[in-house]
Order: sequence, then C-alpha cells, then structure tokens
Amino acid sequence: MKIIINLLKLLKPDYINYDLETFDFNVLKKLKITNIFIDLDNTIVSRYEFDVSKYTINKFNKLENEGFKFYIISNNSKPNRVNKISSLLNIEATYLSLKPLTWTIGRIIKNNSLNKDSCIIIGDQLFTDILTGKLLNISTMLVKPLSIEKNYFRRKMIELERNIIKLVVANV
Ligand SMILES: [Mg+2]
Repeated sequence: MKIIINLLKLLKPDYINYDLETFDFNVLKKLKITNIFIDLDNTIVSRYEFDVSKYTINKFNKLENEGFKFYIISNNSKPNRVNKISSLLNIEATYLSLKPLTWTIGRIIKNNSLNKDSCIIIGDQLFTDILTGKLLNISTMLVKPLSIEKNYFRRKMIELERNIIKLVVANV
C-alpha cells in the first residue's frame, strides 16, 4: 500500500481543486509562469456547451494582453468544436492531442524554445492533463470540472481520480 501511495504521490498536482473562474493568475505571474497549456472540455467550457460566454472571452483576452500565452490542448476528437472555441477565444488549439502522451506539448515547447519553468498545464483530469504535465516535468494545476460527466465510463474514471487525490493529499 505504501508503495502505491508513493507512486501516486508522483501524480500530485502543484495546485489542486482550483476554481478557474476565480483563480488569480497573478500567482503564476509572480512565479514567472506565463505559458499555459490548457484543457478544453470541463476546464474552459462545460463538455455540453457549444458556445463560450462573453465573460470567458474577455477574461482570456485580458490575460493574453497581460503577457500570458495560452495553448488549448484538447483530447476531443471533433475538430469543429475545438476550432470554433479556439477562434472565439483567439487561442491556438490542438484537437485529438492524445494526452497523457506528451508529443503535442513537447513539440510546442521545442518549436518555441520555451523554458519549462515558465510552463504549466491546467486541466480537470488526473490521468490525462496532470499526468502529461508530470511526464513533461512542468507545473500542473487540477481544476474543478465545469459539469458533471454524463458518460458512465468517464464519470467512474473521474470518481477514481478524485479518490486518488484525496488519498494523496491525506498522505503527503
Ligand atoms: Mg477536461
């Protein structure tokens, strides 16, 4: 059991259970973290929403003007959905990213010569978003999902992830 907990500790996000709506990005700026890889479904918009609110558009525009650079890294397989939200937010996006495989973000880091210390991945899932960040050795932030998952398999996976987080936090 102890070995398992020690292994799971490797998955502990640097920031846990933040609400992206109210998160103060100055916290990251102070740490010189300005390159933000961000998940789409249930992180920026609910998986069941097909539009982005004016509030969200303004928020991302403002953060980009303040010097943050966002990259949407989505595992969603539908280019129409990902591209629509990408253009509304004016943020470049990759669909079918196959997180936790690291090649999409790894390629962006390499092509733009980004310093890994300036990078963070933000998302609502442990075994895709956070694991990708851990494998790349960049900062990680697990946020509260924006909607309750309707898909049975994904819902069970999220329950498992949340239980792991509780276990990890209790044993750190
Ligand atoms: Mg997600």
